[in-house]
Amino acid sequence: MKTESNGIVTEGYCAKCGTPLVMRPSRSGGPMRRSCPACHTTVYETPSLVAATLPVVDQRVVLVRRDIDPGRGLWGYPGGYLESGETLEEGAIRETREEAGLDVQITGLLGVYSRPADAASQWCSRPSATARTGTAARR
Ligand SMILES: [Zn+2]
Repeated sequence: MKTESNGIVTEGYCAKCGTPLVMRPSRSGGPMRRSCPACHTTVYETPSLVAATLPVVDQRVVLVRRDIDPGRGLWGYPGGYLESGETLEEGAIRETREEAGLDVQITGLLGVYSRPADAASQWCSRPSATARTGTAARR
């Protein structure tokens, strides 16, 4: 955030025309959004979607230990941000393979959770029987 010489507070630059963005309501009484005063582009900041699984192997839940922040050292279930063009199921399967070294198939939905403070929503699924794929890449 930067205050220009004319007193207008800007937040970044327009991806279309490069003009400094300003904060203003998207409509009368609407939420404040970053907007371009030149080309009227509005920046919609939407939450990131996380896809995860809660795998069970030999009647034991598989958890992974984070080795990056936030939450370094904490235990959690395998999951991560959805990639562009990926379905929720594909993302959950990929993240489980990357983080836990497990091949899974999605058999159901466990829950959908929102974390507005982190600008994230989480989709957690129930996988079928799993098979280990090798050394897990831990996150
Ligand atoms: Zn613009």
